[in-house]
Amino acid sequence: DTILELRDLHYYYPDGTHALKDVNIKIKKGHVTALLGGNGAGKSTLFHHLNGIVKPSSGIVFFNNQPVNYSRKGLVDLRQSVGMVFQDPDNQLFSASVYQDISYGALNLQLPEEEVRRRVERALVRTGIAHLRNKPTHALSFGQKKRVAIAGVLVMEPRILVLDEPTAGLDPKGISEILKLLKQTQQEMDLTILIATHDIDIVPLFCDYVFVMDEGKVCLEGTCGEVFARK
Ligand code: ADP
Ligand code: ADP
Repeated sequence: DTILELRDLHYYYPDGTHALKDVNIKIKKGHVTALLGGNGAGKSTLFHHLNGIVKPSSGIVFFNNQPVNYSRKGLVDLRQSVGMVFQDPDNQLFSASVYQDISYGALNLQLPEEEVRRRVERALVRTGIAHLRNKPTHALSFGQKKRVAIAGVLVMEPRILVLDEPTAGLDPKGISEILKLLKQTQQEMDLTILIATHDIDIVPLFCDYVFVMDEGKVCLEGTCGEVFARK
């Protein structure tokens, strides 16, 4: 089952840079997929297409086999289904306390107060930060902020979680903890996960399937066994 597909995608920045060149990607439901590639390969540009921040110059993005609808309502739905966790949590955290930050997205969905509370509690426990709920976010460590950012996306109950460099800036213990919590969450919430990463070491441990990008193109894809055997 494919949950997200990019078909024949091209993207040109306003200055003419051809950042995505005929990209074809299918993300399978319930799997953990990795997007690998050096600086400038096109990973961020690709991610910006997944929740409609950017519209393709040509080609189509499908979510659940439906072409993305770029109307206001269509984008609201898409952004609820495709949760994005950015590399730098400081770009994602705005509120005074951890609890407020995590509840922000759920409050925006106009959910009943009781449902917001329930989701925030679950997200706090899932990400292992229940004891930090009343802390101001600026007083947290980088790894703790990363967890708050993840929790703030999980309260929206997305179908896909997209993470840009989830392990960057963490020490080995932090890395293994974050991967463990993501794996557990994936199973419990029946999530599909897509990560962009430079950290090749984590890919065979954490991911089922890999796309490798270079100069705006997908140059290689396969299971970890297939992709790493060819290196
Ligand atoms: P399932 O049996 O639920 O489809 P598997 O983990 O057995 O799940 O995957 C079956 C095959 O699908 C894998 O061997 C892999 O080649 C392929 N696959 C997994 N993820 C993707 C993906 N994101 N895009 C394309 N093919 C994939
Ligand atoms: P990655 O995330 O893999 O490092 P990017 O998607 O950021 O790659 O970049 C892909 C290409 O698009 C690069 O050549 C980069 O210089 C270019 N690019 C990125 N952002 C812009 C922009 N705002 N304007 C013009 N070119 C850009």
